[in-house]
Amino acid sequence: MNLSRLVRSASSLAALFPSPCVSCGGARPGVTNGALCRKCQSQIEFCPKNICCVCGAPLEFDYEIETGETYKCGECIARPPRYEELRFAMVYSGPVRELFHAFKFQSQRRLAAPLAALGQGALAPWLREWPDAVIIPTPLAMRKLYTRGYNPSYLLAKILADMAGLKVAEGALRRIRPTTPQFGLNSAQRVKNVKGAFEVHSPKSIRGRRVIFFDDILTTGATIRECCKTIKKAKPKALRVATLCRVADV
Ligand SMILES: [Zn+2]
Ligand SMILES: [Zn+2]
Repeated sequence: MNLSRLVRSASSLAALFPSPCVSCGGARPGVTNGALCRKCQSQIEFCPKNICCVCGAPLEFDYEIETGETYKCGECIARPPRYEELRFAMVYSGPVRELFHAFKFQSQRRLAAPLAALGQGALAPWLREWPDAVIIPTPLAMRKLYTRGYNPSYLLAKILADMAGLKVAEGALRRIRPTTPQFGLNSAQRVKNVKGAFEVHSPKSIRGRRVIFFDDILTTGATIRECCKTIKKAKPKALRVATLCRVADV
């Protein structure tokens, strides 16, 4: 059998036997995005409309914000963050949580594309507001990069940047000391864990430029705050933060 016939039969086999849904395990032909079945996709909670115009936190009132109206949450009024705006695409819950788990902790690198595609609708138009910006993903410690084989934040940032037509500066920021994984630590431990853990490796790619820092999941924001503090030292023209998911009860 020649190669093109082999490829054709492999893709028809894939169509006949689609991968099971990563979340519910259902082997249904409804798996449309290479990861989740239609039912699981319908359970995804996307970023709501009523959010703080700075940190993106959902606001606690139920009337619709009219176009052009902006509100800040109490936290951003009391302690303005170092970035101008933060936006997220989805709430870290249900099928999205399962998908992330498989992507980050079960070495399923292929899930970067469907994950990024789920966040595209919410994030890509906002990323395109700064067409000259450079995206800087959360750096991974070298040792972790060797054992896992990929940096989840970089893979997601690269796909989203390609969708929005922006560049990624992978090595602009780096870790200068090992940290323990943030999950399982409380808020104060998380702050301590990442304090002084990053440095700007390539000031040239930051100074005077619009920068969008990208992290895959926002939990307490300790990593984002520390990375923004470090990036600001290299004097960007402006700084935003993008994250694919936000834990609901930050
Ligand atoms: Zn499913
Ligand atoms: Zn806020």
